Amino acid sequence: MSEFVMDEMLSFLDRSPNAFFAVANMKKELADAGFQAVTTADSEEIRYGGRYVFTRNDSSLIAVRVPEEPTGFRMLASHADSPAFKIKGNAEIEVEKRYLKLNTEKYGGMIISSWLDRPLSVAGRVTVRTESGIASRLVCIDRDLLVIPNLAIHMDRKLNDGYVYNAQNDLLPLFGDKDEENCFLKLIAEEAGVEPEEILETDLFLYNRTGAAVFGANREYIGSGRLDDLQCVFASLKGFLSCEPADGIAVHCVFDNEEVGSHSKQGAAGTFLIDVLHCIGRGLGWNEDRLQKAFQNSLLISADNAHAVHPNRMEKADPTNRPYLNGGIVIKYNADQKYTTDAVSAGLFRLICEKADVPCQTYVNRSDVPGGSTLGNIATVHLPVNMVDIGLPQLAMHSAWETAGVKDTEYLIKAASAFFSSSLLQDGEGEYALHW
Ligand code: ZN
Repeated sequence: MSEFVMDEMLSFLDRSPNAFFAVANMKKELADAGFQAVTTADSEEIRYGGRYVFTRNDSSLIAVRVPEEPTGFRMLASHADSPAFKIKGNAEIEVEKRYLKLNTEKYGGMIISSWLDRPLSVAGRVTVRTESGIASRLVCIDRDLLVIPNLAIHMDRKLNDGYVYNAQNDLLPLFGDKDEENCFLKLIAEEAGVEPEEILETDLFLYNRTGAAVFGANREYIGSGRLDDLQCVFASLKGFLSCEPADGIAVHCVFDNEEVGSHSKQGAAGTFLIDVLHCIGRGLGWNEDRLQKAFQNSLLISADNAHAVHPNRMEKADPTNRPYLNGGIVIKYNADQKYTTDAVSAGLFRLICEKADVPCQTYVNRSDVPGGSTLGNIATVHLPVNMVDIGLPQLAMHSAWETAGVKDTEYLIKAASAFFSSSLLQDGEGEYALHW
């Protein structure tokens, strides 16, 4: 991958402490590239040859490029949220008149120990009072602010024997010495450029201050918080911006709330994507039959990171499907349909990777391990299109600092660009013509 794209990715990771910021950063980049911001009620704005961006809740984003003669959709879905700690209302807790700590709750299933003893800070959204109602403001405290300290090994000799953390007792971050000046809300208000009493509500999360970095003997690895799934988000966006759509409407979808089951208006289980597709259809003057026909000529790639073979725990991977860092894009399979991949969708995806000249690998859970699900099988409930689940291989998924391969990011950028630029037609009898 070129140094320039690598630097761009490191910067995107560091500037996106959570979904609100990932969406704001993409929105800015898309606006600079000439995309028009619309809502799903603006179908009269949609034109052949147009470029549009839709957002929901400031935390999900769908960008669309409509070619002159579209016959279907090329959709690539990823997610912008990651496990973190959410700061509760009335956050300050005084400890013996000496310390202030903040009250938090878990968001998603993180590797808890990875959040301890490292500099953390706060980012998210607040709503403020306006003359006519409320307005949202993004807030990011850009300095080392908090720590969740471990207990000394001398005070609990069993700490290394599989300690079970209690989220209410063990994981509250230390904010500072007790001092009238040290008011958490005051700090947030200052950052938002308002008075503390103007803040109505908050959606604030802790984030890891350790920045993204390239490392390894030959600089072959990338480490960062939130690689799951901002690595796929970034690759999808780059592929989307560099593609040349043929007969497919290119759709770059980034959802929120994947880490907590996707069941929200901005999650993959909500109506956001289907609302956008219907809006596009209405705008282009398509009736329901034409839209259904377009779905037949469509493919959705659900891109969410995958588990690489672990260098110390090799036995955790399936015996015959063994993805490695820098080995290529991972196609994910599950007989119980936790992943949507089937012979048709995976076959099409393999041809796309061939066209892009990038390698693929395969992932299946060990048969004695249940494994997680992702976006595809949730979105597929609403959308009658072929879908394939893929991801980039990584280690330490849901750690506060995860590891992935430098080459794999570039592979997905190339595959995404080839996918968005492809022509796909189904003949009605289950045969697909895929070409460029
Ligand atoms: Zn994920």
